[in-house]
Amino acid sequence: MSKSILVTGGAGFIGSNFVPYFCKKYPEYHVINLDKLTYAGDLSNVKECENDSNYTFVQGDICDEKLIEELFTKYDIRGVIHFAAESHVDNSIKGPKVFMETNLMGTFTLIETARRHWMDAPSKVKPGYEDARFHHISTDEVYGTLGETGYFSETTPYAPNSPYSSSKAGSDFIVRAYHHTYGMNVTTSNCSNNYGPKQNHEKLIPHIIENALNLKPLPVYGKGLNVRDWLYVLDHCKAIDLIFHNGKSGETYNIGGHNERNNITIVNTICSILDEKSPRKDGKSYSELITFVQDRAGHDLRYAIDPTKIVNELGWKADETFDTGIVKTVEWYLDKFKA
Ligand code: NAD
Repeated sequence: MSKSILVTGGAGFIGSNFVPYFCKKYPEYHVINLDKLTYAGDLSNVKECENDSNYTFVQGDICDEKLIEELFTKYDIRGVIHFAAESHVDNSIKGPKVFMETNLMGTFTLIETARRHWMDAPSKVKPGYEDARFHHISTDEVYGTLGETGYFSETTPYAPNSPYSSSKAGSDFIVRAYHHTYGMNVTTSNCSNNYGPKQNHEKLIPHIIENALNLKPLPVYGKGLNVRDWLYVLDHCKAIDLIFHNGKSGETYNIGGHNERNNITIVNTICSILDEKSPRKDGKSYSELITFVQDRAGHDLRYAIDPTKIVNELGWKADETFDTGIVKTVEWYLDKFKA
């Protein structure tokens, strides 16, 4: 009998890289991809799965209690991998409410439904559901900002600074509480900035590539000195797979590949790859389009992950360095924008 796994947000950036990887690797699972298809979700991102017999897409909202209940009953869900979220910091500054609804109430609705289906009482798992696990995907932004040195580890105190990161921090605490109070089998991962194919054009890397190819200004916040720890999206997907299957219940795992770069370095790197792969007709470098704009409110200076725990305990290792991953990424967007 196949085991049904509910993946939420599988039409978004990371989810749509994860779902095909997961469906193909585990034909014994039935993957139910639940996505509301907000502006950030795109079904064409998962068209490689359309004909897979172990894949089902459902359009719907993780806050819709009735729908979630129906899905758990209909498919006898025995695992949840929870990506769905409002994810863009700038949007959370302009309109925080939907971030609280989706990220907090959506996570609550999912895990509360899972509790009813998997647990008979606190610390008493229903017979047959011993392996049913809820994996929650979160971000390193919950830790706030670092100075010029140091790393976030799993024991770093939470200090979220944006409406986005505060809503994700709250969702992490909901998941934590369901383990401590009800003894549910949960894991959480906090990952650094992802990049790669299928990312919405609002995010830095696709936005820069798209603007460059259209010879539009390349906006960089402040002086471009904010540092992020960049991870190729498939390396994140492989880490989630490992944690979902081998992680210890109740634990959190930080995921990052030690690829710290500041924003201006990212933009200059993209420009030089484009200069080589798709030279401008006027012979100029794309970097001439760089334009510094007013900094984001409350912009965290630096994020960097210490991944020692997942490396030592689960044997995870990133396959891509930033230098290899960014070339693949630019090539993917070049194909997409030229198609
Ligand atoms: P994304 O914005 O690209 O995709 C989010 C997906 O969730 C979309 O398909 C959207 O339609 C769906 N969604 C939104 N609200 C929904 C709702 N109420 N019900 C059902 N579906 C809904 O996000 P992403 O970059 O793929 O991020 C996925 C997860 O990973 C998020 O939880 C995010 O916090 C986390 N994360 C992202 C990064 C990153 O760099 N992108 C880093 C660390 C963690």
